[in-house]
Amino acid sequence: MPRVLVLGGTDLANAFVTALQMAHPGLEIVLSLAGRTRNPKLPDCPIRTGGFGGTEGLAAYLREEGISALVDATHPYAAQISANAAKAALETGTPCLHLVRPAWEQASGDNWHHARDYEEAAGHLDALSQTHPLTVFLTVGRQGLEPFHYLMNCTHVVRSVEQPDEAELPPGARVVLARGPFREADEAAFLKENGIDVIVSKNSGGTATYGKILAARSLRMPVVMVARPPLPKGEVVGDVEDAVRWVTAHHHP
Ligand code: NAP
Repeated sequence: MPRVLVLGGTDLANAFVTALQMAHPGLEIVLSLAGRTRNPKLPDCPIRTGGFGGTEGLAAYLREEGISALVDATHPYAAQISANAAKAALETGTPCLHLVRPAWEQASGDNWHHARDYEEAAGHLDALSQTHPLTVFLTVGRQGLEPFHYLMNCTHVVRSVEQPDEAELPPGARVVLARGPFREADEAAFLKENGIDVIVSKNSGGTATYGKILAARSLRMPVVMVARPPLPKGEVVGDVEDAVRWVTAHHHP
């Protein structure tokens, strides 16, 4: 019996599992989560939770569970698990696909400051806040906040799904707990109500968190856009339909 392991933790992974179940009712699908989010929204399929124990652990899982195909549908910034997936697949001869939403493209009216990583993003804020204090909307999640701890002339509003630990937060940061999707009108109201001057964002792609980018465009607000880490070499698709076709080709060639 073919068995597909889907590395998830994203809405895209959930949508993919649902589409795959409809296309191949007989297929066994296991969805894997890191286990960071309490009460995640999940499709109706077997779920396993927690790390595998690096590349070796994932390779052992693929062998022991007789996995016939691996689909990495993790978030584009979850670079470690994607790298582990590519290596473990190579080691075990398991077909592997990366399903990643295409990145957002800068459009007319966008005022983006491109940053290679969180350190460079903090550097942009430092430069922008030289002449006047800034209120910064940090929407990069709980991880990667450390470089923003040292900005002297910035006040931070941090949005996160889970409550960050105090030590993870820049001093004096205010936390807003919320889970997307976020609509443009609500984001525009939020930016105004909180006196936000600049947004720091990952380039997540998709529509669920695009509202703040649209709101920033209409308000002519700068966005510091943190680039995606590189994907490992391998097969990549950008939408659910192509990923379902890939599984079909591997199981019913
Ligand atoms: P990461 O840095 O790439 O991974 C760190 C470790 O967490 C991995 O080495 C692995 O542990 C474990 N892990 C990650 N994803 C896993 C999965 N789907 N199933 C089992 N183990 C997993 O990942 P991250 O950035 O912390 O993201 C963790 C989860 O949150 C992922 O599922 C991702 O899709 C989701 N997420 C991340 C972001 C983001 O911005 N990074 C945003 C939204 C959702 P072992 O080495 O022990 O196997």
